[in-house]
Amino acid sequence: MCEPLICDSGRAGRGARGQWPAAEGKVPEIPASLRRARPPALPEVSELDVVRHYTRLSQLNFSIDTHFYPLGSCTMKYNPRACNAAAMLPEFLGRHPLARSAHSQGFLACMYELQEMLMEVTGMKGVALTPMAGAHGEFAGVAMIRAYHRARADLARNEIIVPTAAHGTNPATATMCGCVAREIGVGPDGDVDLAALRATVGPRTAGIMLTNPSTLGIFERGIAEVARIVHEAGGLLYYDGANLNAILGKVRPGDMGFDVMHMNLHKTFSTPHGGGGPGAGAVGVGPRLLPFMPLPVVAREGEGEAARYRWLVEADLPQSIGRLTGFNGNAGVLLRAYVYMRMLGREGMSRVGDYATLNSNYLLARLQQAGYVAAYPQRRASHEFILTLKSLAQQQGVTAMDVAKRLLDYGFHAPTTYFPLLVPECLLIEPTETESKETLDAFVVAMATILSEAGSEPETLRTAPHRMPVRRLDDVRAARELDLAHRPVSG
Ligand SMILES: *Cc1c(COP(=O)(O)O)cnc(C)c1O
Repeated sequence: MCEPLICDSGRAGRGARGQWPAAEGKVPEIPASLRRARPPALPEVSELDVVRHYTRLSQLNFSIDTHFYPLGSCTMKYNPRACNAAAMLPEFLGRHPLARSAHSQGFLACMYELQEMLMEVTGMKGVALTPMAGAHGEFAGVAMIRAYHRARADLARNEIIVPTAAHGTNPATATMCGCVAREIGVGPDGDVDLAALRATVGPRTAGIMLTNPSTLGIFERGIAEVARIVHEAGGLLYYDGANLNAILGKVRPGDMGFDVMHMNLHKTFSTPHGGGGPGAGAVGVGPRLLPFMPLPVVAREGEGEAARYRWLVEADLPQSIGRLTGFNGNAGVLLRAYVYMRMLGREGMSRVGDYATLNSNYLLARLQQAGYVAAYPQRRASHEFILTLKSLAQQQGVTAMDVAKRLLDYGFHAPTTYFPLLVPECLLIEPTETESKETLDAFVVAMATILSEAGSEPETLRTAPHRMPVRRLDDVRAARELDLAHRPVSG
């Protein structure tokens, strides 16, 4: 079943003329040669048709507002409406990005306090807010690492070490910054292979990119030793802080020895995301990278009533890697993060860490009881964990993709599949701290049902989903032969 296209549902002469702007006398002078010969083939539909069409389309989506969405690494948690409402105040929305600092003191004060709170949460010494995505923040971070080595005339350092468990953006960032990504493995328990690390560091090491908890959903126990090895070799440590849920109020990357990091404010700090944006990938730096921060950064001068805020610019930070966005970054996302952090406070932030890990470990234990296999059974989960369906695939011919698709039939968004690449037939599951025990239990029931279906009717799983508006799609064809052109139905 397919929704009819709105382009095919018009009737000549129908419309919503009441909505048209009054055009009399305002038609711009367009040269005849540039004017179209025929009117555009727009559907002629009533206002009610349009409302129904787009409302129906929006209801075909899975979203955090309608379904549990345990997408590992991507953190689809609930974002309080209050954050949205405050960020949408007309005074914020109407602020011009080029307004003088004297006219933007309220906004600048929020941004300054956001920088301070992010420093407190991460243990970093400086924060710049302007990168517009996690990957953009990574780019800023590795550019700062390069600038640091260059400033010391240490020009040979162009290698970034990346553990195999890393998010794909890490090696991509290293490459985009003109570095060479050197991959190292992890041991059987999921910790970085220290012997491989020792063998890889050297005079060409610019730094290492990793995250802790790692994308394997476990806490890197050797982190102090990793930091020592890399620092002794002259490299810096980059923390991929896309997702801070597990560590909020518990441990800080700065205290673990990291020199630079990015945070996905759109994963941890209350901006809805998915489908490519909008986001904010604020970066935090330790003392060594302070001079290289991207611009602009908000500074406060004076205290209390006399405090004034202003943007730091090139003259203030001459060694900066420069500007990464046209204006001040994604102001709306930054404001949501600010309100979120002010609402939670120190105690609430720490509770995020408590419940993110509690939910994750509860769900892992229940799924193991139901017969699923943890990829790292000897380790405690962080905010997320990995199941491996390797034996299910071997014995029943049912893959992680089949299970993911069948979950849609039971009303759950699928977890992340086939990432990290290290674990065969894996599901990376992140329940997040905002889900209730009842929701997690219902998810376990669905997963248990799917496991029994794998034995009794594997074909049902292989051809799932069955209850969605579209059946299983041919991903490869959709990517290679994408065709979005509209061809009117004749007659
Ligand atoms: C999401 C994510 C990124 C990339 O963030 P974007 O905002 O999508 O660019 C990087 N690393 C990890 C671990 C992530 O989960």
